[in-house]
Amino acid sequence: MPVEVVSVRGLRFTYETRDVLRDISFSIEAGDYVGLVGPNGSGKSTLIRLILGLETPHAGSVSLFGQAPSQLKEWHKIGYLPQKNPALSRFFPATVQEIVALGLVPKRADAARDDREALRKVLDLMDITGIRDKLIGELSGGQQQRVLLARALIKDPELLILDEPTIAVDPEIRERFLNVLMELNQKRKVTVLLVTHDTGSIGKYAKKLLYLEREVIFYGGFDDFCLSAEMTKVFGSFTQHLICHRHE
Ligand code: ADP
Ligand code: MG
Repeated sequence: MPVEVVSVRGLRFTYETRDVLRDISFSIEAGDYVGLVGPNGSGKSTLIRLILGLETPHAGSVSLFGQAPSQLKEWHKIGYLPQKNPALSRFFPATVQEIVALGLVPKRADAARDDREALRKVLDLMDITGIRDKLIGELSGGQQQRVLLARALIKDPELLILDEPTIAVDPEIRERFLNVLMELNQKRKVTVLLVTHDTGSIGKYAKKLLYLEREVIFYGGFDDFCLSAEMTKVFGSFTQHLICHRHE
């Protein structure tokens, strides 16, 4: 039996009087890499917030590692990067390495050396070693985003949920980050849920596609999406081809 990491059943959510999400059901299994795409305002960030228990559904249910988010104790298993990070004041009194190290859960005292090693590795990976002692507020938006990506990765999560993580970073860092994610998924079986605008290249990385437009338009493997005549009707062959183009 595949292990369900995320399970969503009959979910409905309304802001004031407007339905933002309706009749959403799907599950993500351990080791999946799901690309969540859909137009602006289609409810992607809201769905993520519901999965994490940051919003409460009006109908239906969410389970995370087999539990309701409100019951979950194993938050260390989850790395999350929200779409909009609160604007950091220029004088926010923390350095790059302090922010990244915040992502570490408290461990046994003798784990301090592992922590230092993990910090060194992840700073290097995101190419922020040279700015480790700068105040976070002094950095550009793209640099801040790299710091927050490093924080999401540092604790070796089992599930990574990233909401448009590479929107403000330059192409080289984006490529590197996406390759790191793919490696974590393939080698360490980390489950990934990645929200992205980049429909043209998500197929190169993700195994499954979740296309949202206030409801689930499609959920499944890329091959099924690409061969589906029904999806050709929904998207037109041009857009379908764009999503299926894997740059291979
Ligand atoms: P996406 O991430 O796909 O762009 P969102 O989940 O952010 O979509 O938003 C879905 C819809 O809900 C949009 O129409 C947005 O305007 C609306 N919305 C988002 N947040 C709020 C809020 N706090 N109050 C009212 N409406 C909201
Ligand atoms: Mg969003």
